[in-house]
Amino acid sequence: MRTDRRTFLAGLSGLALTRPLPAARAPHRALTVRGPVEAADLGITLVHEHVLVDFVGAGEVGRHRYDADEAFRVVLPHLRALKERGARTLVECTPAWLGRDPRLLVRLSEASGLHVITNTGYYGAAQDKYLPAHAFEESAETLAARWTSEWRDGIEGTGIRPGFIKTGVDAGPLSAVDRKLIVAATLCHRATGLRIHCHTGDGRAAMDILSVLEAQRVSPSAFVWVHAQNEKDRALHLRAARAGAWIELDGVSEEARDAHVSAVMDLARAGQLGRVLLSQDAGWYHVGEPGGGRFRPYTFLLDGLRPALGEAGLDDRDVRRLLVDNPAVLLGVAV
Ligand SMILES: [Zn+2]
Repeated sequence: MRTDRRTFLAGLSGLALTRPLPAARAPHRALTVRGPVEAADLGITLVHEHVLVDFVGAGEVGRHRYDADEAFRVVLPHLRALKERGARTLVECTPAWLGRDPRLLVRLSEASGLHVITNTGYYGAAQDKYLPAHAFEESAETLAARWTSEWRDGIEGTGIRPGFIKTGVDAGPLSAVDRKLIVAATLCHRATGLRIHCHTGDGRAAMDILSVLEAQRVSPSAFVWVHAQNEKDRALHLRAARAGAWIELDGVSEEARDAHVSAVMDLARAGQLGRVLLSQDAGWYHVGEPGGGRFRPYTFLLDGLRPALGEAGLDDRDVRRLLVDNPAVLLGVAV
């Protein structure tokens, strides 16, 4: 039987609610590299990790530079270790021109049993080292059309579709090309519904991005402030969260544990837990290094940070919200 909403709310009004109601189950689906899945079924999700990265630069990057079979063998045990701890989804944030490899991600997803999500968009941070020449010449509309066609038809003829937009900008104020990337991302967002995950150099850049969104009439809830932990002025986290943006604290590691817990608790006390995302920015197979170099495992978030959040005062429902409910809302789009 369907409960009348007003009757339900009237019943609640007598209760002393100490925390916001849990986020509604995401009604939409997430685009994984193996196709759409119900966003509500993503489970524990790491929203910012890497499988493979090549820092050589847009001029030289390419699949000829590594052995995908070796990368597969190196990465798979780390994904399995994550799955054994109860995670179900990994969001792979390596953009095009930095080593994005959708076919490798499909193989790893099949072998590990994890959902894996890849992206479209260009990365303008690091003084534009990872931007192809056409990113400077083309209009925001043309760039957005390229990204939107990846969403519609798949990446590079593979049929594998991106589940989010990944961009990057240097510290603010935004350069002309960085601003153009954000405008292009808003156009692609409008066409696809995909959220805009943007690597930001600092809080000034994040505030500039929010201004661009406002000028483009795109909701701040479409924007993920990637690497927000690098901004030490927590008032900016609060300002962005209250505007509706996502605050991604993605540098989780043993050394950074206490700083992350403190940043999460500040946002929790302000009633903004529903805008917080956690991840490690860990991994990955380093192209050009013997055997892929040193791999940072994906496991500390669940092994080390999760219990620390509990000790700091979050209950199981809060932690579930951070690791399951928020990512489901973030990644769910009307497919
Ligand atoms: Zn990253």
